[in-house]
Amino acid sequence: MKYYSTNKSVSEVSLKDAVIKGLADDKGLFMPERIEALPQSFFDNIHKLSFQEISFEVAKKFFGEDVPEADLKELVYDTLCFDCPVVHVNDTIYSLELWHGPTLAFKDVGGRFMARLLSYFLKGNTEQVNVLVATSGDTGSAVANGFLGVDGIHVYVLYPKGLVSEIQEKQFTTLGQNITAIEVDGTFDDCQRLVKTAFLDQELKAGLTLTSANSINVARFLPQAFYYFNAYARLREKGITDDIVMSVPSGNFGNLTAGLFAKKMGLPIKRFIAANNENDIVYKYLQSGKYEPRASVSTIANAMDVGDPSNFARILDLFDHSHEAIKAEMKGYRYSDAEIREVLKAVHDNYDYLPDPHGATGYKALEEDLQDGEVGVFLETAHPAKFTETVEKIIGVGNVSLPEKLAEFMKGEKLSIPLSKEFDDFRDFLLKQA
Ligand SMILES: *Cc1c(COP(=O)(O)O)cnc(C)c1O
Repeated sequence: MKYYSTNKSVSEVSLKDAVIKGLADDKGLFMPERIEALPQSFFDNIHKLSFQEISFEVAKKFFGEDVPEADLKELVYDTLCFDCPVVHVNDTIYSLELWHGPTLAFKDVGGRFMARLLSYFLKGNTEQVNVLVATSGDTGSAVANGFLGVDGIHVYVLYPKGLVSEIQEKQFTTLGQNITAIEVDGTFDDCQRLVKTAFLDQELKAGLTLTSANSINVARFLPQAFYYFNAYARLREKGITDDIVMSVPSGNFGNLTAGLFAKKMGLPIKRFIAANNENDIVYKYLQSGKYEPRASVSTIANAMDVGDPSNFARILDLFDHSHEAIKAEMKGYRYSDAEIREVLKAVHDNYDYLPDPHGATGYKALEEDLQDGEVGVFLETAHPAKFTETVEKIIGVGNVSLPEKLAEFMKGEKLSIPLSKEFDDFRDFLLKQA
């Protein structure tokens, strides 16, 4: 399968090149040249298949031409060593829990798959490959843990100083080995800009092999389609087949875009909801047709504090830049911190279910949006304990239990390199590593 750039001013590349490059040379995002539908027989029997089996069928449609079947199966099965269950919350609302992986956020799915696919492509390579990743909190840990100890790969995690939770920070600053954490004196947007600029810098490209593990990378972004299919299968088991609405807490829009891909492959989703915090750029676009990026503001759903969502370029491309077509597929909602706190507490108190602040936005949008006869699924993108401080302020101290996996991370010692948000400083730093 070839991959083209959303900016369409460079030639198509192979999957391997798309994965290693991350971003196309014209700054566009890579898109697969075709999105193939799965056969009806697959959907007829999907409820009889496991998460791994379903994902393997989906993966073949994306990567089957480029990775031999046996290798691809191993990549998929090894990535998904955990479940993504659908949990009932109230009458018509379900939570798709995406936090059962090693770092307790949905990014484990893409992060683990990308680490495995990249190592597969680099087998026998003698040069070190440097993975640059900007994180608003959860990507860093998923990617770092996915790549930890992998020979020939060094990961640099850039994160905004003081803007990620303590637990999030511990998950990528305590690992050592081939993982370096860089604490940037700026916002997530600054981190993302540093990474994107690095890929376009000739001097850096001459000295170092660089790749990105943000959701701009197709190997991270496409596998996120897997759990949408699984959610449908698990609803089918409960006898639910139609009128399913998926609500996606969104920041950089990789997760939601993967859902749109799943639908193009035939998954019967009635519509999508993009739930935003106060960083409501896409919400405004859906209202007005104008896309106006702004500096991000910090909120209690910090992983969605994105002022210029990268994957929006993919959504535009998917629908030929038609505002009408995009509006027909998805609706937008936006919530203030006060609204997020309120709904989180209400779900906890009324339904004995504890969402995290991101999932809470997805839940609230369903509550507002669902019509009679529809069933809603919100993507519960992280475990609430990743935001213990915030969540305990809402539902009371001592009410969030820390899973064993997170407790282990908390014991480590934070090691990170402070850096300004100036690109020259970042470039000098990287060149010194070469
Ligand atoms: C990254 C993240 C999001 C936003 O996902 P995008 O794919 O960037 O839209 C939402 N919730 C949590 C917990 C995250 O870590």
